[in-house]
Parts: sequence; structure tokens; C-alpha cells
Amino acid sequence: MLNHNKILVINAGSSSIKFQVFRIDETKHQPTFTILGKGLVERIGIKDSNFIIEVANGNDFTKHEVVQDIKDHVAGAQAVIAGLIKYQVIANFDDITRIGHRMVHGGQKFNSSMVIDKTVVSGIDSCIPLAPLHNPPALKGLSAFQKLIPHAHHVAVFDTSFHTTIPQEKFLYSVPYEWYTDHEVRRYGFHGISYRYILEKLAIVMNKPQTKVNAIVCHLGNGASICAIKDGKSYNTSMGLTPLDGLIMGSRSGIIDPSIHNYMCDVKKDATIASVTNDLNKASGLLGISQHSSDLRDVIAASEDKNHPKYIQSQLAIKMFVQRIANYIVQYANDLQNNIDALVFTAGIGENSFIIRDLIINEIKILTLKLVDSKNRDKYDDFLLISDKQSQFPIYKIKTNEEIIICQDTYNLLISI
Ligand code: ADP
Repeated sequence: MLNHNKILVINAGSSSIKFQVFRIDETKHQPTFTILGKGLVERIGIKDSNFIIEVANGNDFTKHEVVQDIKDHVAGAQAVIAGLIKYQVIANFDDITRIGHRMVHGGQKFNSSMVIDKTVVSGIDSCIPLAPLHNPPALKGLSAFQKLIPHAHHVAVFDTSFHTTIPQEKFLYSVPYEWYTDHEVRRYGFHGISYRYILEKLAIVMNKPQTKVNAIVCHLGNGASICAIKDGKSYNTSMGLTPLDGLIMGSRSGIIDPSIHNYMCDVKKDATIASVTNDLNKASGLLGISQHSSDLRDVIAASEDKNHPKYIQSQLAIKMFVQRIANYIVQYANDLQNNIDALVFTAGIGENSFIIRDLIINEIKILTLKLVDSKNRDKYDDFLLISDKQSQFPIYKIKTNEEIIICQDTYNLLISI
């Protein structure tokens, strides 16, 4: 008999499938979602794939790791379900009836999460030219779970849909208007699922309805972007047609002069538009400037070690990374007319690096922002106010949770099941 008290959340990438299982507890007022297990399959299609599952055990997780060959996403989905059954997160296939999928690009078609049917799949498919690195693996993940658990219902939750409220003068590029009307060239923005979580959290923390929240949120992970939220809606964001635009990232360039493409094709032997685009995505950002790593922890370590061969380069990479973020914060403060309830740092770097938060705040010269050093460094579980009372607006570090948003949307859209 089918059980309907669990939701599986899937985030499928080109060589990985991340998953989380939530139990739903329905009370009279509203449901609560408790994580039962999480993990990932990595190195799909590469030798020695890895399956990691962490099973909830009170407030802790017990981790199990298996190295096995996983040739494709179907085998990856099989490993996920077999692992969930083996470690008793679910009893059997009947325990999974609702699956929420993270979808990166919904283009102009999807301004909210959707129950997946053939039309939705073909809509996501038609967005592949806009997200050739992200949408195909997400669709592969979807199709693998559809095959494996035919009775399950699926929901797509898009990173772009939160940004569909950005006004036209901010989402348009100043290119021939037909590029927009004929080819959908515009700013879409990403990390919208994370921004929705932060917005929900801010509304609770500040005891305000979401529709009254005005904030600048810095989602600083390996991929990084920033969002101005006005009256609970995305008003501006740094990523564009693709996630390559905006901030300097782990290995992505962020904004550059678009003529660089043509110039590099002229001056570099064998360079093509595709190879330059690949370098801008995979060999630029912190990695490109530091010349040794896309991981901020490595770059910081090298920038603090005078004997490191990339000491100077690493210092430069951090300076550039921080300056660009500071400039965006100032721009968005202006966009929001200084009516700001909070500045938030989130994702791997934003949540964890007191050094980067400190450098960013020190780089902002035309707003009066002040951190409390001990708070900036303090350990925390969920969120922490890290600014001084004299700060022009409060500054928070908040741990994001994209999976819970996917779980909530899946529940809400499939409530009748
Ligand atoms: P993504 O989800 O975009 O792959 P994450 O949100 O996991 O990225 O963030 C990865 C980044 O966070 C890396 O640059 C990593 O160095 C950085 N990071 C993670 N933990 C810490 C930490 N404790 N201190 C500094 N940086 C950290």
C-alpha cells in the first residue's frame, strides 16, 4: 500500500544526484517537515562513483559511504532508492509517492513551481539552450526516477521563477530589442530557491509579513549571486541570461566586456567561442586569478602564507572578489532607496567566512555598516545578527536550505494525493 507521508527531494547535476527525504507531520494548522536522510551519488559515469548517505539520528546524522560503479543517472537513482531502503530511511518503493526536483532554468515559461506532466517537461526541455549545463542533467534525473518509481508524482521547482518579478528596465540588456522578443535574451537570475528560503526566514526573524521585507541577500557559494528584494519580491539580481553574469565566482568570471570573446578568438590559437565560454565558466573567477584553486578556503590559506607560490595572486583574487560584491551592495542599496531591513550573507562562503564578510563590509565606504567582530566569528545553527546597533541596517548570516523550499512546494502542489 502506498504511503504518503514522505517527500523525496532531488537535485541532479551532470555527474551527481543529491537527495533528501523528509517526513511530513500534518497538524491542524500547518505541516512540519523533518529530515530523515540525505546524501549524494557523485562521479556518475566516472570510475569509482561514490554513494554517500547520512541517516538522521536525533539531531545528528550517521554517515555511510560506498564506492561502486554507477554508469548513468538511472543507475544513480537505483543506488539512491536501494540506499534509502538499506539504511531504513524508507521501507520500500511504496514509501515514495512525491518527488520534488530542483530545476535551474525555467526561462520565461515558469514563474512558479509546477506539477510535472508532458507539457512541463517539454517546457523545461525548450529552456535547454538557456541552460545547457544544468537543465539536461536535471531532466535525466527526473526521467530516471519516473522509470524507477512509476507511481510517484513529481514537482519542478525553478531557480529562476523567484526573479520573474524583476522590472523590465532591470531585466533587459541594452541590445537590439528583437534579441529579447525573438530569442528571449534577458536577465533571468538564479539561486531563487535559496532567496525564497532567506525571505521566509527574514520574515520570521523580523516578525513582518514577507510582502513587507526589503533586503539585500548575498548568496556566496562556489556559484555566487546577489539579490535586491523589494516588498518580498526579487527586484534586481546579478546573474543574467546564464549563471555566468555578475559576481566573481569560484571559477566563473562574472561580468566581463563581451568583446573579450571575439578578441580571444583572434589572438589565441585554436580558441573558439565555445572554448572561451568554457574558460569563462571553468577557468576564471577565484581560480583564474589565484592560479591555483576555485575553493575560497584554499585561496585564503594561500593569501595568508607568504611562502605560498600563489601568495600575491591569491591576495589579488580575494580583493577583486570582495570589491565586486561591495559595489553590488551599494548599487542595490540605491535600487532600494536605502529602505533596507537587512543585509544577509548565505551559502558556503557567506555562511562560513568571517574574513570575507569583514572584508566586504570594510570595502563599503558610502554606507555606515558595522559588524560586531565576535558575532561575525561566532558559531551558529540557523541565523545570527552580526551587526552593531550603529549599523545603518542589520546584517545577518543565515544558513540557507533550498531543499526545504522544494519539499514545501512539492507538498503544497500535491496536497490532494
Ligand atoms: P555551491 O553550492 O555553489 O557548490 P557552496 O555553497 O557549497 O557552493 O560553497 C562552496 C564555497 O564555500 C567554497 O568556496 C568553499 O571554500 C566555501 N566555504 C565552505 N566552508 C567554508 C569555511 N568554513 N570558510 C570559508 N569558506 C568556506
